[in-house]
Amino acid sequence: MTARLPALFISHGAPTLVLEDSPSRHFIARLGTELPRPRAIVIVSAHWETRGLVVNHNPTPETIHDFYGFPEALYRLNYPAHTDAPLCARLHELFAAAGLPAQSTEQRGLDHGAWTPLMLMYPQADIPIVNLSLPHQASAAELMRIGEALRPLRDEGVLIVASGSYTHNLRALAPEGSEPAPWALAFRDWLDRQLETGAHEALADWLRLAPDARRNHPSDEHIAPLWIALGAGGRDATAVKLHDDWRMGNLSMACWRFD
Ligand code: ZN
Repeated sequence: MTARLPALFISHGAPTLVLEDSPSRHFIARLGTELPRPRAIVIVSAHWETRGLVVNHNPTPETIHDFYGFPEALYRLNYPAHTDAPLCARLHELFAAAGLPAQSTEQRGLDHGAWTPLMLMYPQADIPIVNLSLPHQASAAELMRIGEALRPLRDEGVLIVASGSYTHNLRALAPEGSEPAPWALAFRDWLDRQLETGAHEALADWLRLAPDARRNHPSDEHIAPLWIALGAGGRDATAVKLHDDWRMGNLSMACWRFD
C-alpha cells in the first residue's frame, strides 16, 4: 500500500532562493529528503495564471527564467523536468468527476515559482511532474474545490506542491534583516490561527476577515496556491506549519503541510 502523501504550501521567495544560504532554502531542500519519495508531483505556481483551469501536457517543459535584473548565474539554471502523461489523464478524470472544466496545453514551460522548490527538493529532476495552472480571479472557495478534486492523488503516491507566498506586497519590502511590519505580522498570525483550527469558512472569506488582507496581498495570485493545498488536505486535515521566516522585512516564507 502506498503511504498517503501530504499537500504542501511553499513560500518560494525571490528567484535567488536557490542560490542563497538562507534558512528557507535549507528548509525546502531538507523537506525533499524527509518526505516519503513520491511517484509523481502535481505542482501549482503563483506565476502561471490562465483563464480557467489548464493542465500542462508538455512532455519536457523548459525552464522559464521569468524575472529580470537578477544575477547571471540564475539565468543559466535549468531544471530538466518531464511530465507524466497518465497522471495528466488522471487529473482530467478527477476534474470531470468533480464537475470542474479543465483544458490542456502542450506549450507551457516551468516558471520559477514551480522550479525553485522542485530544484531544491528534488535536484535530480527524476520524479515526473504535472504542472497545473491557477484560474485567474478564482475565489478561495473555488480554489479549495480544485484542491479537493486532487485529494485522491495523495493516496496514489502523488505529492501536491502549491507554490506561492504567505504575504506578498513587493512594494513594501524593506532592507534584508528589517523587522516585519505590524500589518504583516497580524495577517500572518490571523492566517496561522485559521489554518490551525481548520476554519475553512473564515479562510474562504479572507479578503473580508483577515487584517490588512489587501496590504499583504495586493493581488491574489501568491496566496491562491494556499487554497489549493488546503483543499487537497481536506476538511479534516491536520495543518502543520513547517517553516516560518521573513525576508526583506515583510515577505513571509511560511510553509505548511496538510495531512
Ligand atoms: Zn513569486
